[in-house]
Amino acid sequence: MTEEITTKATMDKIVSLCRRRGFVFQSSEIYGGLASCWDFGPLGVELKRNLKEAWWKDMVQSRDDMVGIDTSILMHPQVWVASGHLKHFTDPLVECKVCQKRFKADELEKPICPACGGELTEPRQFNTMFKTFMGPVEDSSSVVYLRPETAQGMFVNFSNVLTTTRKRLPFGIAQVGKSFRNEITTGNFIFRDREFEQMEIEYFVKPGTQDKWYEYWVNERYNWYQQIGIKKEHLKLHYKCKEELAHYALACCDIEYYFPMGWGELEGIASRGDYDLTQHALASGKSLEYVDEETKEHYRPYVVEPSAGVDRAVLALLCDAYDEDIADGEQRVILRFHPRMAPVKIAVLPLSKKEPLVKLAREIYDQLRPCWVTQYDDTQSIGRRYRRQDEIGTPFCVTVDFQSLEDNQVTVRERDSMVQIRIPIAELKDTLAAKLAGEPLTVGAHVWRAGEGKKE
Ligand code: ATP
Repeated sequence: MTEEITTKATMDKIVSLCRRRGFVFQSSEIYGGLASCWDFGPLGVELKRNLKEAWWKDMVQSRDDMVGIDTSILMHPQVWVASGHLKHFTDPLVECKVCQKRFKADELEKPICPACGGELTEPRQFNTMFKTFMGPVEDSSSVVYLRPETAQGMFVNFSNVLTTTRKRLPFGIAQVGKSFRNEITTGNFIFRDREFEQMEIEYFVKPGTQDKWYEYWVNERYNWYQQIGIKKEHLKLHYKCKEELAHYALACCDIEYYFPMGWGELEGIASRGDYDLTQHALASGKSLEYVDEETKEHYRPYVVEPSAGVDRAVLALLCDAYDEDIADGEQRVILRFHPRMAPVKIAVLPLSKKEPLVKLAREIYDQLRPCWVTQYDDTQSIGRRYRRQDEIGTPFCVTVDFQSLEDNQVTVRERDSMVQIRIPIAELKDTLAAKLAGEPLTVGAHVWRAGEGKKE
């Protein structure tokens, strides 16, 4: 029997929370906004950085077989001829003859306008790369494109990386950066944008070993989303059948997430053979080959490409963390982020605005701030301040009260369980470090277990 998948997140709730608390704003909002472009606010930028830094640490820095790169957005126009983007990176566009609205033909259920029922034009192929001009003259010889993926930066630098790092197969090149696609239909908040960020790996392997590495990367990436806190039941693998594959792809699997609007792609893992290196070798005249030191063979490595979207993963993190429950007879909204992802790790809250208390609270705030993103808040009732921190997903609140002035202890309150416990100020940093790392909290010889302690 399959378990029913549930989520308390709706797109309206997520969009409203993001706007209200400063995660995501509409781009150029004061001018009425720019469609499908978004600005990440003070909390959104922290969440996004945590995600990208976790990816970089786990996929690049912790591995012996991976190196990073940061290539330019504008590339030689021949790159896009060789890669096939100029010819094939198109969507079938249809236009309504009555209301002039435009749609992607392959997304329509019926061959009529979904907005007004009007007659549609025949589909024409629309290239979704953004075009611009390099230099002061706007003619066809100065046309360049904003990259629609970061991947080509890795392929064209294959030889540079190989000779400078002396890596042996299998090894990968990884990059995080902006990409641009002039999508015909956008929507669902930050799920489909025209400007977005990607985290991509090109993993080069010996031909013949690609199937093993493809399976390896599907598992590695599927597990990684769970390690950063996404629920397993909200993830699924969609192995593409032959008809769904790009003509050069040997295999492809999408990692999908259960978004409020339904299942949607988070990341694609593709086994691409030697298509890209061969295309660039033919177009550039450079060999782009690898010399196998053991067998003395010369060949072009095969590639397995795990390609993830930052913005979609941020949306998945927000939806997955979203929860509602009842506290003090009132509804509370919580973002139950994994501590590694939480934009703010700790909030320091003096019980009152009275001077000796504020001084001590500020001292604690100053001590914690260099270690973690920490907020200080002395406005409104303590209950309201807890609610505010719950709503932005802060794992721990440190409350300073009048007793603290006498016994040098503070109350640490855990977001998820709402359990509170007194901790000596001298032990606060170590305690929080252990808790944020997911270790059980020890106070003296006593281990603080979930559900134990005084409830708020
Ligand atoms: P889709 O089918 O949803 O258009 P795609 O298969 O074209 O996506 P890829 O080219 O495989 O996407 O890109 C890799 C990843 O980049 C995607 O899994 C997604 O997370 C992200 N991505 C692609 N297009 C967009 C977009 N317009 N907005 C936000 N993220 C995107």
